[in-house]
Amino acid sequence: MTTREQMAAAVAEIRTRMADAARSAGRRPGDVLLCAACKTRTVEEVKDSATLDIDLFGENHVQELVEKTDAGAYLGKPGHFIGHLQTNKVNKVVGRAAMIESVDSLRLMDKIEAAAQRLDLVQDILIEINIGDEASKSGVSPEALWELTDAAEACGHLRLRGLMAIPPADATEDETRAFFARMRELLEQTRTRGYARAQLDTLSMGMSGDYEAAIREGATIVRIGTAIYGARDYSHKA
Ligand SMILES: *Cc1c(COP(=O)(O)O)cnc(C)c1O
Repeated sequence: MTTREQMAAAVAEIRTRMADAARSAGRRPGDVLLCAACKTRTVEEVKDSATLDIDLFGENHVQELVEKTDAGAYLGKPGHFIGHLQTNKVNKVVGRAAMIESVDSLRLMDKIEAAAQRLDLVQDILIEINIGDEASKSGVSPEALWELTDAAEACGHLRLRGLMAIPPADATEDETRAFFARMRELLEQTRTRGYARAQLDTLSMGMSGDYEAAIREGATIVRIGTAIYGARDYSHKA
């Protein structure tokens, strides 16, 4: 358990480093949002962190999203879904998550569209790119991206906001930076497709170990877990 004081110091340092990275790239610090990736953290920890300078929360597991939104753990700040989403759990996420960052198939998109239609709302989404072409990772290949962006544009209850990625964990600093740069190119290419409904303002990339590099390459959301909350403890989990 990380104390509120420890989290406050961590968030202050992260904010300073985020701002420095933004300025060094000629960007405004206010253009980059801090998402606290709070998987495995308790409602109490998340509530404590929500009083700090964090813009939004990211959940990987549907059960945690349900538990924490129902408990008001984010203190009114938005929650994003950032993990792999199974189609049979879509109904629990649409209406709870302000944005689903990890859309990676037409089938999933169709389910989200149907759920959003039933609730009469427009669901913001990002498309997750498997930027390192890893067999073990979710996300679509860059080659398959236009099929999904075209489909999103045609769904009346989806609003495509941009792209998300997690580069390979074993990549070097240079490789990671190249992956981030490629993501920015992909977002720029998506913009040139001239969609009328999409609002392509979001690039979600960068975690505890590489968020400054991500910001220098254009990230508008960085998703940070361990640097805020400390190391994750999975020992008591099934
Ligand atoms: C856990 C997680 C993060 C944060 O990772 P840290 O290394 O703890 O900062 C970011 N994005 C996703 C999708 C995650 O699952």
